Amino acid sequence: MSVSRVRRKPQSRGKVSKGRSAIMRANTRRDTKPELALRKLAHARGLRYRVDSKPSGIRYAADLIFTPSRVAVFVDGCFWHACKEHWTAPKTRQRYWREKARDNRLRDRRANAVYRARGWMVLRIWEHDRAELEKFADRVAKAVWRRMPPR
Ligand SMILES: [Zn+2]
Repeated sequence: MSVSRVRRKPQSRGKVSKGRSAIMRANTRRDTKPELALRKLAHARGLRYRVDSKPSGIRYAADLIFTPSRVAVFVDGCFWHACKEHWTAPKTRQRYWREKARDNRLRDRRANAVYRARGWMVLRIWEHDRAELEKFADRVAKAVWRRMPPR
């Protein structure tokens, strides 16, 4: 699934073809499939969380946050988070996309630093590691229970 495939086809301006909007939906940041799968796995482990939220004082949203335990979880899509293994620039506006990829990588590193500076634990998994999702959910659960404040 790449933007290039769509962008190559000239479309009338202002109109979005069915194929194109499907791909744009597939590239949105929310509700990507591995993210949904992870939510299910977390829920099955008895975890409760907020989705696509920012803890107070932090301007970067995480995909799942476990506020009492201060655990932030990110499921990084290969395209938007510019994974080194799979990211390729779309055919048009390559310079724009390269800069965007670099900015997004920097943004992720800044987000990690901000969360950690405020006492949060950051756990990330790549979209391409979806085969590891179960194991990752176990790691998340362990971290959340271990960091739960005493009542
Ligand atoms: Zn990847």
